[in-house]
Amino acid sequence: MIKYKLLCKECDFKFDSWFASSNEYERLKKKKLLNCHNCNSFNVEKTIMAPQLINRKSKLDKKIDLQKYNKVKKTIIGYQKFIKENFKYVGNNFAYEARSIHYDSKKKSKGIYGSASKQDLKELKEEGIDAQIIPWIDENEN
Ligand SMILES: [Zn+2]
Repeated sequence: MIKYKLLCKECDFKFDSWFASSNEYERLKKKKLLNCHNCNSFNVEKTIMAPQLINRKSKLDKKIDLQKYNKVKKTIIGYQKFIKENFKYVGNNFAYEARSIHYDSKKKSKGIYGSASKQDLKELKEEGIDAQIIPWIDENEN
């Protein structure tokens, strides 16, 4: 069943009408079986309902995006948990600590994590020190 909003071109009266299909609407219109509920004129047209469809679709897209976002967020939080349990946090000293591990082979150390600037990472890479950048979510964020 399809519900169309019909508009009478004679008196501007608007009314809803149900049809089995869009073909049925065309058939009834051709046979002059569609008339205005107000003035009985046969000069009746269906109005375009597209804006309503667009609204529905955009709401749906938003819902999907939110699910996607939450899934990604959950994955990142999982990484963070692993890193916190297995790596040592060095804060802003990341570049310094990374070098000290790299150049002092006797020093036994866990992996480290912390903050580094793009410039730091570029220099570390040039020195052959492998650092990974991962997205990080502030835990206080809701
Ligand atoms: Zn009318």
